[in-house]
Amino acid sequence: MTKPPLPPAPGADTHASLALVGTAVALPGGQHADELASPEDATRWLIEHDLVPHETTLLTYCQTQLTGLRAHLRALFDAHVAGEAPPETALDAVNSALRKAPSARTLRHDAQTGFRRETAHPVTQLVEHAMAQISEDAATLLAGDEADLLARCEAPACDRIFLRTHARRRWCSTRCGDRVRAARAYANQTRR
Ligand SMILES: [Zn+2]
Repeated sequence: MTKPPLPPAPGADTHASLALVGTAVALPGGQHADELASPEDATRWLIEHDLVPHETTLLTYCQTQLTGLRAHLRALFDAHVAGEAPPETALDAVNSALRKAPSARTLRHDAQTGFRRETAHPVTQLVEHAMAQISEDAATLLAGDEADLLARCEAPACDRIFLRTHARRRWCSTRCGDRVRAARAYANQTRR
């Protein structure tokens, strides 16, 4: 697994959808980092983000579903920051993920312990639940007040989507800002 050498983009700590989209990023030098490159990586990511119970183990099928949703969310965010209409396929995919929010937790009764609610589901349902939560977050974000704050990092070779935590923020991280400033300084020097 290639861990992105960057802290989470602003907004990714509070928005699961931005966090998911941020698991695949372009790196300087034309490389890519993917935090969900295997079912094990995808499992770890979902557990770390409290989206599935700790004992969950994802199957390849679930990993593929999750990275598929990531691509569709990316398309929605990209279209939004570019001021364009989103691809119909991406919109449909996110809506279908939204609709897969599971039905209510079952009520069980045990002679010793009495009533309890149960969320035990097959792993595919756990992942569908996680995907529904992530899609819900994206829908709330894109249709809400914060949508105007969504931006794409302006540093060359970076494509991270982030929330502008202050109006003039143009980079996803200080690293990207430093890289742009360094490149600018270098260009000025060579011009002289
Ligand atoms: Zn960046």
